[in-house]
Amino acid sequence: MKYFIQTTLLLCLCILFSCSETQEGGSDQVYGEPGTPLILISIDGFRWDYFDKVATPNLDKIINEGVKAEGLKTSYPSKTFPNHISIVTGSYPSNHGIISNYFYDADFDEYFYIGAGSKAAQDGKWINREPIWVTVEKQLKHAMIMFWPMSDAEILGIRPSEYYVYSGSPSNPSRMNQLLEWLDLTGTDRPTFLASYFSTVDSAGHSYGPDAQETIDTITEVDNAIGNLLAGLESRGILDEVNIMIVSDHGMTETPDSKYINIADYLNLDDVVTVGRGPFMEIRPNENDIESVYQALQNIEHTQVFKKEDIPAQFHYKNNDRIEPILLLADEHWSIVTPGYSSSLGSHGYDPDYKSMNGIFIGRGPGFKSGFVGEEVHNIHLYEMMCKLMDITPSINDGDITATTTFLK
Ligand code: AMP
Ligand code: ZN
Ligand code: ZN
Repeated sequence: MKYFIQTTLLLCLCILFSCSETQEGGSDQVYGEPGTPLILISIDGFRWDYFDKVATPNLDKIINEGVKAEGLKTSYPSKTFPNHISIVTGSYPSNHGIISNYFYDADFDEYFYIGAGSKAAQDGKWINREPIWVTVEKQLKHAMIMFWPMSDAEILGIRPSEYYVYSGSPSNPSRMNQLLEWLDLTGTDRPTFLASYFSTVDSAGHSYGPDAQETIDTITEVDNAIGNLLAGLESRGILDEVNIMIVSDHGMTETPDSKYINIADYLNLDDVVTVGRGPFMEIRPNENDIESVYQALQNIEHTQVFKKEDIPAQFHYKNNDRIEPILLLADEHWSIVTPGYSSSLGSHGYDPDYKSMNGIFIGRGPGFKSGFVGEEVHNIHLYEMMCKLMDITPSINDGDITATTTFLK
């Protein structure tokens, strides 16, 4: 009998010991300590000053109890895919390879394009730098993502532990619920990196313009979804244990119908290939026609034209074969279009130096200062910062940790 009690006691102790080992050892982390989970959320097209348009109590809670940058500086071109990938790779578009939402690769003889159902956007062959979820997985931790550009692609042979193929349909609150469900995983299943994405603010900004009530309503709706996330973290007792970052990829500006430039007024479109339209257009003439096409595009009011090799250095947009020989860039509010282009009242893609192209970066949690507002930061620096917050080693990137240490404890 005595022997039986002793053995049972020993068995219980062993079980207890091995349980606590699964929760704290191996690749697992303890909430609140370095390496605690990081939640990254993108609100597509949330301009730096949208906080002033309407009450945003939940975003304000993050800011007041955490940090805010005056703005998040966008990489050129101020479009969705290049910038989401800049944020997660810490790299300029010319280095990570997703140089725009739409571009041509001569080696593949294929166009890259985006949108729900895009096969290209689910194909890792297009990307040349390591996204943070790959860095996380390579270091034997879990990344779980409900939508982020290219998170549904296999990159360097690696996918996030959990991911969804992109769809615009699931509601914003349901995306937050999925993150909370993943945070309920225990032991070595627990995620270290979680990410999600909202498209509604960007879509309304395009359809109605940045100042329209319809756009303002989406800000309220997204703030509510963030409120659901905060409440879910609080009810689990982990609100102060996880790091949360909310970013946007770019801003938005008005593009009235009166400010359209029809490229067909300047070029015979049978002689060139045009890539993209709106705030900029890239142009591929026959090799012998580059000079004459360049000359034909001089002096179009409200635009600047550059040969690829003359694109201003601050754009970091030169050293990639996917960039076409000529860039025609519109001034803010102007759109370069081809015949039949349907209008939208808001757009982005302009020179990142326009304040209207600035996005946001706010953060809260044990890794961040509290009640701190810092200067504008460039989005290529966030990758190093996220690696530091998760206590993982960054891969090659263009960022610098000293650009963001001011926001960290
Ligand atoms: P933009 O035209 O630059 O404003 O891009 C916004 C659009 O990107 C959204 O409306 C979606 O159609 C598309 N998008 C966002 N995330 C993804 C994704 N993960 N996969 C494919 N398309 C996406
Ligand atoms: Zn966007
Ligand atoms: Zn957009």
